Amino acid sequence: MATKKPDIKYTQIFINNQFVDAVSGKKFRTINPATGETNAEVAEGDKADVDKAVAAARAAFRRGSPWRSMDASARAKLMHKLADLIDRDAEYLGSLETLDNGMPIKFSTFFAHMAADIMRYYAGWADKIHGHTIPTDGTNFTYTRKEPVGVVGQIIPWNFPIMMLVWKWGVVMATGCTSVLKPAEQTPLTALYIASLSREAGFPDGVVNVVPGYGPTAGGAITAHSDINKVAFTGSTEVGHLIMEMAGKTNLKRVSLELGGKSPLVIWKDVDLDEAVNIAYDAIFANQGQSCAAGSRTYVHEDIYDEFVKRATAKAVARKVGDPFDAANEQGPQIDDEMFNKVLGLIESGKREGAKVECGGNRLGDRGFFIQPTVFSNVSDNMRIAKEEIFGPVQSILKFSTLDEVIERANKTTYGLAAGILTKDLETAITFANAVEAGSVWVNCYAAVAPQTPFGGFKQSGLGRELGEDSLHEYLEVKTVSIKMPSKN
Ligand code: ADP
Repeated sequence: MATKKPDIKYTQIFINNQFVDAVSGKKFRTINPATGETNAEVAEGDKADVDKAVAAARAAFRRGSPWRSMDASARAKLMHKLADLIDRDAEYLGSLETLDNGMPIKFSTFFAHMAADIMRYYAGWADKIHGHTIPTDGTNFTYTRKEPVGVVGQIIPWNFPIMMLVWKWGVVMATGCTSVLKPAEQTPLTALYIASLSREAGFPDGVVNVVPGYGPTAGGAITAHSDINKVAFTGSTEVGHLIMEMAGKTNLKRVSLELGGKSPLVIWKDVDLDEAVNIAYDAIFANQGQSCAAGSRTYVHEDIYDEFVKRATAKAVARKVGDPFDAANEQGPQIDDEMFNKVLGLIESGKREGAKVECGGNRLGDRGFFIQPTVFSNVSDNMRIAKEEIFGPVQSILKFSTLDEVIERANKTTYGLAAGILTKDLETAITFANAVEAGSVWVNCYAAVAPQTPFGGFKQSGLGRELGEDSLHEYLEVKTVSIKMPSKN
């Protein structure tokens, strides 16, 4: 049954708890990827709006401001309130996400509830952030304070818009920072709605600000801003490079980056085959393949390769693709025509380079950006589909013989976000987990990301970690205070 499409309530820039037009008066269209129709005209922020938002975030961070003088436990209460409001409106938020992003409704609503849980996880940290006392030589009394880094610019992508927003805001709020956030130009709507919830929850003016707009303009203004203390970015490795460069050229703002991936999922010969097929299927096809941690290189042991390919193909052929508002569907459209064409182009390269199309390989229908679930066998490491991030519903199945061989092949990439192995053998699992160069390793499961677990990349998949206790350190400065004392006592 199809869910009703939502009314869109907020399309303006959110600064100081107010919705306002862009200084330039400009607007941009946000598109429904299932139909290609316009969802809304949204205020298009650029440098002038970023400057206003940074001024608001700086004022909210100033010494003596309501936010800086608030007890940490009171910050936690506001965060719990926001989490409750997200839960209250999860169905609405889910449908807004589906409209803007094309994510099937059962997943978007699930993620809205999960976002509330992430906010609660971070609320728990707010009053548990503290330094140490240090027994220095001599008589000085020395302690450290963990202080919020300040105004944080946060730039998020379009693939999981609600989740990405809450990952970013949760840690800002727990640590007592303030934020200027730019949602992706493809998916600004849920960020603006959650901004209205933060106001309803009672966050003081300027603590969180949302500036929709394009990457090079609004995003670029955040990255170059000299009054931003840190930039946190999730998106492509290409833009990650630009952000670090700009931080270096301006005020050496702190940088954390969560970037692309080409993650290997290794399937050893001793697995339960159906279970392995299911895990590998979810690893790659979830969210239309639009996940930085997608298991996009499926390495299967030679002893079970042919049977695995047969069953993986049958599973992909049965995937329900279509209207994301229909609760029966598991796959919606790709986000926009650019990504749609990129994915189809990579599929063509796979065909040209000699991989075998087991199923799919084309667009689906003639409206919106739908792509058939596609399975390639006979894939080799040097093909583009095995090297480049596809970000689409394309499973590449590669054959291997030994553990040492597959570890070497798994690591032969500039990325290092995630990896998985399926096996009943503990020694094989642990050897792989130790040797693979990836920020997260999943054994007999995949994409087991939880609020409590740090997530981030080795190599060019990023810098720093999100979620878990480790994420807090990315938003804190350590201050050492040494006090001269007359004696040891
Ligand atoms: P994708 O290719 O998946 O869209 P991007 O890295 O281009 O990933 O986009 C992720 C986020 O980064 C979006 O919010 C986008 O607007 C922003 N962005 C893109 N280019 C820049 C840039 N030059 N500077 C800052 N932000 C950017």
